[in-house]
Amino acid sequence: MFKGQIATAQVFPFPKALNEEQGQFLQELVGPVSKFFEEVNDPAKNDALEKVEDHTMEGLKEMGAFGLQVPADLGGLGLSNTQYARLVEIVGGHDLGVGITLGAHQSIGFKGILLFGNKAQREKYLPKLATGEHIAAFCLTEPASGSDAASIKTTAVLSPCGKYYTMNGSKIWISNGGLAEIFTVFAKTPMKDPKTGEMKDKITAFVVERSFGGVTNGPPEKKMGIKASNTAEVYFEDVRVPADCILGEVGGGFKVAMNILNSGRFGIAAALSGTMRSIMAKAIDHAANRTQFGNKIHTYGAIQEKVARMTMLQYVTESMAYMISGNMDSGATDFQIEAAISKIFASEAAWTVTDECIQVMGGMGFMKVSV
Ligand SMILES: Cc1cc2nc3c(=O)[nH]c(=O)nc-3n(C[C@H](O)[C@H](O)[C@H](O)COP(=O)(O)OP(=O)(O)OC[C@H]3O[C@@H](n4cnc5c(N)ncnc54)[C@H](O)[C@@H]3O)c2cc1C
Repeated sequence: MFKGQIATAQVFPFPKALNEEQGQFLQELVGPVSKFFEEVNDPAKNDALEKVEDHTMEGLKEMGAFGLQVPADLGGLGLSNTQYARLVEIVGGHDLGVGITLGAHQSIGFKGILLFGNKAQREKYLPKLATGEHIAAFCLTEPASGSDAASIKTTAVLSPCGKYYTMNGSKIWISNGGLAEIFTVFAKTPMKDPKTGEMKDKITAFVVERSFGGVTNGPPEKKMGIKASNTAEVYFEDVRVPADCILGEVGGGFKVAMNILNSGRFGIAAALSGTMRSIMAKAIDHAANRTQFGNKIHTYGAIQEKVARMTMLQYVTESMAYMISGNMDSGATDFQIEAAISKIFASEAAWTVTDECIQVMGGMGFMKVSV
């Protein structure tokens, strides 16, 4: 679409990505998940504690929320991208701290094992990850390497016997870094260039278990928002990583990282479309009940225009999320640009809508809920 070469069959009619059975299964999940977030999860408490409450984590595990897209034969719910988007939308409507905890685990933390893992790796890791017994994290960013992900300095050097790599380095701002048992880690591995015979460093992706030894983490970072989500530095000191823990090909790690990130981006659009919908409901409710200058404020043009503009942003974000997840489910492989656009658009739209909702609610918009 972005390049003006529209494959109309992918877009018109709007992709109906679920068959009857998938639609029904989704309907069965939507009710209990919504109920859980309304009745069990307490976002204000999580925010104040700067962690997701233990009983909420346990409840999420029992519901299968840690293995939404893991195939059923490996212990997950086996959801498609469209089904995943619908559930993530509910989470985003209630608590983005919980959303990042779940998203960092499955959208990036173990996505590499789902997309690139061989049979043995999938069978070894996915069952415990699907139940939430093990939490996963994605370790790419380093102090001197953010947007320029190819410039990472963490190293993994093959032992003379060829059986293991020794990993050294540190990663920053890792979501779930303080909770995880399983890490997808990107490191530079020295390799011989087949053409020139020269040694060159290339990025390789590894599955690293905390139990290998030498893996530690810093304290949770103090953040301005999504405080309930754990973000920490993770250190790798002479970690012995067995050679069979490589994800994909030796030297193929950059491709692994980009594929993981590309395949998870629509989740941000789905979550934030839920966020916008739920905060708009609060602001609109306030506007319908608040009287100033003798009238309910929703009767004033300035408030009506804010609601109209917020509705447009929410509608476009939601449409993008389902267009992309639907295209992915129907087998499209060329969705990277649209997925990137959806992530940026959704983030900026949610920022604008949040600010506008705060304005509609006046002073009340700036007050915290007491816990
Ligand atoms: C809450 C949170 C959770 C995170 N979780 C994880 C995680 O789980 N795993 C993980 O690996 N990382 C994680 N990160 C790190 C995140 O991926 C990085 O912050 C991100 O990649 C940007 O890198 P940086 O912060 O170093 O910014 P920089 O790359 O230093 O960028 C700083 C600014 O410069 C701009 N910029 C950079 N290059 C250019 C250019 N060529 N042209 C113009 N402008 C440019 C950027 O857009 C940005 O505005 C997390 C970060 C946060 C805040």
